[in-house]
Amino acid sequence: MHITNFQHFLNEEGNISTDIPKEARELANFLALLIDDASTGDYEAEPTIRCIEKGCEGLIVPTWIQEGDEIYWICIKCKTKGYITDWRGTKWDNSSEI
Ligand SMILES: [Zn+2]
Repeated sequence: MHITNFQHFLNEEGNISTDIPKEARELANFLALLIDDASTGDYEAEPTIRCIEKGCEGLIVPTWIQEGDEIYWICIKCKTKGYITDWRGTKWDNSSEI
């Protein structure tokens, strides 16, 4: 279970920090995609985001849990899963456009 506070990956401008290790940046980009997707509130669309586990070609299904404002995600293949917290108000938050 990955529990990530998305703010930890951002710099003062609200962008993904460039001075963090490559692995962390890749994780941040992955989380940004999930936030972008889940915060639209559209769950009809097919999942398109590839799992981050090495060797897994599964797709990730993100769900915005409005109670507590967390995004829960799970890989449909390897069942890797996690929660993203503190993502509201970031550049990838589409919830204000609903
Ligand atoms: Zn997977």
